[in-house]
Amino acid sequence: MRPERLNPLFIETTALKGVGPNLARPLEKLGLKRVRDLAYHLPERFVQRRAVADLDQATVGENVVVAVTPVEYRSSPGRGPFRVLAVDEPGNTLAITYFGRNTGWARKALPLGEKKWIAGRLDQFGQQLQMVHPDHVSDESGALLGALCEPIYSLSDGLTQGRAATLVQQALGNVEDLPEWIEPGLLDRMKWPIWRDALLLAHKGEHAAARDRLAYDELLANSLALMLVRNANRAKSGTSLHGDGRLRTKLHLPFALTGAQRRSISEIEGDMAQAAPMLRLLQGDVGSGKTVVALESMLVAVEGGAQAALLAPTEILARQHFETLRRMLAPTGVNITLFTGRDKGKARESILMGLLDGSIDICVGTHAIFQDAVAYKNLALVVIDEQHRFGVGQRLMLAQKGKRTPHCLAMTATPIPRTLTLAQYGEMDVSKLDEMPPGRQPIDTRVVAVERMGDVIGALARHLESGQQAYWVCPMVRENETDDLAAAEARFAELREHFGDKVALVHGQLGPEIKDAAMERFVRGEAGLLVATTVIEVGVDVPNSTLMVIEAAERFGLAQLHQLRGRVGRGEGKSTCLLLRGSELSETGRKRLALMRETQDGFRIAEEDLDLRGGGELLGTRQSGDTPFRVANLEQIQRLLPLAHDDARLLMERDGGLTGDRGEAARLLLYLFERDWGVQLLRGG
Ligand code: ADP
Ligand code: MG
Repeated sequence: MRPERLNPLFIETTALKGVGPNLARPLEKLGLKRVRDLAYHLPERFVQRRAVADLDQATVGENVVVAVTPVEYRSSPGRGPFRVLAVDEPGNTLAITYFGRNTGWARKALPLGEKKWIAGRLDQFGQQLQMVHPDHVSDESGALLGALCEPIYSLSDGLTQGRAATLVQQALGNVEDLPEWIEPGLLDRMKWPIWRDALLLAHKGEHAAARDRLAYDELLANSLALMLVRNANRAKSGTSLHGDGRLRTKLHLPFALTGAQRRSISEIEGDMAQAAPMLRLLQGDVGSGKTVVALESMLVAVEGGAQAALLAPTEILARQHFETLRRMLAPTGVNITLFTGRDKGKARESILMGLLDGSIDICVGTHAIFQDAVAYKNLALVVIDEQHRFGVGQRLMLAQKGKRTPHCLAMTATPIPRTLTLAQYGEMDVSKLDEMPPGRQPIDTRVVAVERMGDVIGALARHLESGQQAYWVCPMVRENETDDLAAAEARFAELREHFGDKVALVHGQLGPEIKDAAMERFVRGEAGLLVATTVIEVGVDVPNSTLMVIEAAERFGLAQLHQLRGRVGRGEGKSTCLLLRGSELSETGRKRLALMRETQDGFRIAEEDLDLRGGGELLGTRQSGDTPFRVANLEQIQRLLPLAHDDARLLMERDGGLTGDRGEAARLLLYLFERDWGVQLLRGG
């Protein structure tokens, strides 16, 4: 149970005053479900703006507040922007420009003929003064708007700066002092404010110490939780399994295992022979052959008379794993089944039955395999593919499924730097696949300016002509999902004009049937070109696909680019990866893409990317999915995580049950960051 004093922070945002159904969706999109999330929705930056009497008094590039009167609406054809032309007192024209499809909102905020104060950055577009997406449109008080050092929050469609700020303030009103969980000596040394002050300050202005403290809290919570998991795990009993090899010798493997695969398998087998549940991470770059290691491990469980489950992050991957494994398992007689959220009625019932009576040996699926209704006869091993998609908490939920705690093997291809390994997997044992299967050819990677799109399409045409397949990846950035999807669909339509129904499309918003059908067509070779958002990032394996085009490559994290690129170079043929870059590329952006061209070593890419981005990273512009953290950015993780880790270790040594004063405070911290599964373990023992 969450401590009562935290309740005000866990009130749902939809229950706040003035939050109607219209705001629920935009808030949800930003992950702002509770008051706590709002309080931690830290500004991306701050602006100071100047109130001016008219546009003659303002300079291009400056943040201003000015009064104007809208005189005309101008829609542009297609997906172009919507403009509101407005005039100031002396008669200068300003174009107020909105991108995106929602013009209704702009029309409502800026009725023709009504004078309004608008606040935002003054730009120039050709000869025309313009303001893109003003921060505020208001009926009054230009002076008031101009007086503020104002936080700028990240938004989603339907949420304005003004509303965001009001909601954050409302949330901060619910923040009370909490007992200190940071070691007092450290707090002094760092000159960090206490928790509540840190939150308030972080919303008021650029306050590095406040931001650091908040980031440190999150890192500390994470380290503590991971240590609690590890300790609890050590105290539990699993099933000691001794496979006799009878199934593994019958496997239909089309290749010989690499040394690294053999070594990893024997490490895993060694763990599974112990009574203490395994908690092991299998780290291997894309294409290093993790699947077969998973398979052999699962067979150890089956040979020992138990069941195994393989959890995949997406349905596409679950399906693909199932097909691959089923083929290799054919001669063994092992009963393997696929279980996804889509199985309903009779099919579902019969799977549930098979898991319960033990007639199903291996279950492959998505998170559906650990819903409440699912019970196993004797689940002894859980393999989690692409671990970074799941929290450690989810892993634990799974672990509760067996009568005894199952062994857990997490597999990841995300080549994360050492510091982040500590953050994500902290206390796990690690096996590394540091040797690629033989015969891999290097992928020819090139950076191409987007202006050369015509050449790219020409090359693509020749490629498809030769009977090979290709991927086309469109960027998907969380900030504006609708626009991203629209871009993917527009690109799909355009490529279809060139290549007809040889083109298939997959993205996250398509229904599962449609998505699977598209994937199927591509896997079977009926479609030559697969246009996709990053849903293909992990796992998809089509060896005949030897060309990948990645649009707006500079918008991706390098680890992500590396994973994407790993989809090609899987067959005999030579593979190519074209990184299309936008016309405005920063120096760092240029270096990052050059690094991709230079090396295919995922771990080197991860380390250097962190260096390249680390320092220069803007507040709040994190790549989603890179880290398990919401508050701490990459630079803070590097700087503060080692401290947090040591501090957590000390606290655990002194007060492993978290019962002392600081221990109690630390429990609050765990709840605050929803790492409370750590606390639950304490109680469960
Ligand atoms: P990962 O999941 O680590 O990205 P996969 O398990 O999908 O990689 O393996 C990538 C490809 O390499 C697959 O086509 C697989 O059949 C093949 N493969 C795996 N191990 C070997 C090996 N020892 N020798 C040759 N090919 C292998
Ligand atoms: Mg894989």
